[in-house]
Amino acid sequence: MEEERKTPEMRAQMTEIERLRHSTAHVLATAILKIWPEAQFAAGPPVDNGFYYDVDLPHRISPEDFEKIEAEMKKEIKANHSFERMEVSRDEALELGKKGRLAALTDRGQPSKFKLDIIENIPADEKISLYRNGDFIDLCAGPHVMRTGNIGAFKLTSVASAYYKGDEKKPQLQRIYGTAFKTKKELDDYFAMLEEAKKRDHRKLGRELEIFVLDDDVGPGLPMWLPRGAAIIEELEKLAKETEFAAGYQRVRTPHIARETLYKKSGHLPYYAESMFPPMALEDRLPSLSRPTGFQPVEESDRQDADRPSQAGSPTSDRYYLKAMNCPHHHKLFAAVPRSYRDLPLRLAEYGTCYRYEQSGELFGLMRVRSMQMNDAHLYMTPEQFEAEFNAVNEMYLNYFKLFGIEKYLMRFSTHDPSKLGQKFVDEPELWKQTEAMTRNVLKNSGINFVEVPNEAAFYGPKIDVQAWSAIGREFSIATNQVDFAQPRRFDLRYKDRDNVDKVPLCIHRAPLGTHERFVGFLIEHYAGNFPLWLSPEQVRILTIGDEPQLLDYSGAILDELRGHQLRAEIDASTDKINGKIQRAEQMKVHTMFVIGKRDMEAGVISVRVHGRGNLGAKSRGEAIADILSSIKERRS
Ligand SMILES: [Zn+2]
Ligand SMILES: [Zn+2]
Repeated sequence: MEEERKTPEMRAQMTEIERLRHSTAHVLATAILKIWPEAQFAAGPPVDNGFYYDVDLPHRISPEDFEKIEAEMKKEIKANHSFERMEVSRDEALELGKKGRLAALTDRGQPSKFKLDIIENIPADEKISLYRNGDFIDLCAGPHVMRTGNIGAFKLTSVASAYYKGDEKKPQLQRIYGTAFKTKKELDDYFAMLEEAKKRDHRKLGRELEIFVLDDDVGPGLPMWLPRGAAIIEELEKLAKETEFAAGYQRVRTPHIARETLYKKSGHLPYYAESMFPPMALEDRLPSLSRPTGFQPVEESDRQDADRPSQAGSPTSDRYYLKAMNCPHHHKLFAAVPRSYRDLPLRLAEYGTCYRYEQSGELFGLMRVRSMQMNDAHLYMTPEQFEAEFNAVNEMYLNYFKLFGIEKYLMRFSTHDPSKLGQKFVDEPELWKQTEAMTRNVLKNSGINFVEVPNEAAFYGPKIDVQAWSAIGREFSIATNQVDFAQPRRFDLRYKDRDNVDKVPLCIHRAPLGTHERFVGFLIEHYAGNFPLWLSPEQVRILTIGDEPQLLDYSGAILDELRGHQLRAEIDASTDKINGKIQRAEQMKVHTMFVIGKRDMEAGVISVRVHGRGNLGAKSRGEAIADILSSIKERRS
């Protein structure tokens, strides 16, 4: 596949850090040429968290070479050369390329083959520019930092192979990756974050803390929740249900499959077919043949029913799909009852389970899966109600962020491109303008942190993707909101307005807590498995010092009391020494430990220990339990 060429407009949007990183790629090429003057360079763009430069070189560069290359790079940075821009004609550029002077320190015997190819592909009306730092001249549209000395700190990170222009029929190149920052401290923090992220990896902690498993016989991308994971999920659902109930939502329930006709109506078929599991075809067989022997013979009337063509009359009407989204089912529930303006806004919520056919290469832990339980709801409203509804959804997000201690987030507001109406975007120019303006207004007025991204809306309307950063600064996409003015029409949804005229409602799809899979994956890494008490899979473990029957009876009574309060509590009544018991509980990151010995029993106290905080000292039994209950009730962090 050919990689897309960046337009001058896209390049102008490069952020400050991207400029710095791309400039470091020029310095990398300079250093490589000082060591291997025959090196031929292709493309060297900034990427997420760094940059790369593709190089063709007989010597196979390995991480052992990095020190030598970095030493040359440091010299180039110390020399503080300016990045000098030169505009040239196409002929001048070609002339230099033929002499091997592009992406080089001097003229060379060999032409700069990749750069010549790149020149051929620059549109005729686009200016051609070169950039020079010291002896190094490269064909490049920029932009860069002012001087090599502006590069505060950098590091080469890895080397991989890559085809020229991503095309496997083209030559294979070596791709050298690195990263750069304005300061040494930022660079150090970044690598410290990566180290910490490795320890917090949700796949690693998910296994160690017995939260979820993936099993080959169940299928790739189909996570199963162990009791500890299910406990977290139950708490999240409880939170969502309470929050949504208070906000006037009503809960519904829908099946996991639906007929093909539903998805044709919604427009998901055929456009979305690739992301859905293949359909189940219900064969048109005589029921008597399909049943095992020993069954009652089929009545003649049943047989006639089975032979009768289905209502839709099409041969495909008996194909069923696993649902990939809940919306069509919810739209049907809206349509199931006559609606008046007095019923609006109507907010239908469901933790719906959806199935999507992600490519197996794309599957990743809990982040990319094939089955997912979504914190879904569809809000139906009049256009006048849109602003207040959308605002309330945003408020809900902000409250959740606060509760989970998410300090950094970004809403990406994706809008349509008018030139692609009728192809990429449903052909409703007025509705696009109207809903985009309303959404933009709400975002602006609420002071929410957002960016607008053109040409990335959903087919049915503008979309908002929510990105959140975990406690250590790792980025996650956790949720999507969508404004939808097309589906209600396709489903012929109507309400009777004040003027007694039938009108089509607007719809908002929203899922602030995303899917359980992705959100729990995020939370595992965000908390490093140290969940707050209310979310903790095991809230309290009682550890007895010794195993005298009287002490075990007493501890058992405390366990009963805790469970009576709906606490997730366990007891370790093994004959192990207390230190071993504590160690085991700490390993599983059990939130609170009640350490009880004979003397504690006699004094009616409990030694309370909290994971990560150590021994909090002795409290009366009543006080210890009351503290826990109030922390959970307030969902304290
Ligand atoms: Zn450049
Ligand atoms: Zn939806």
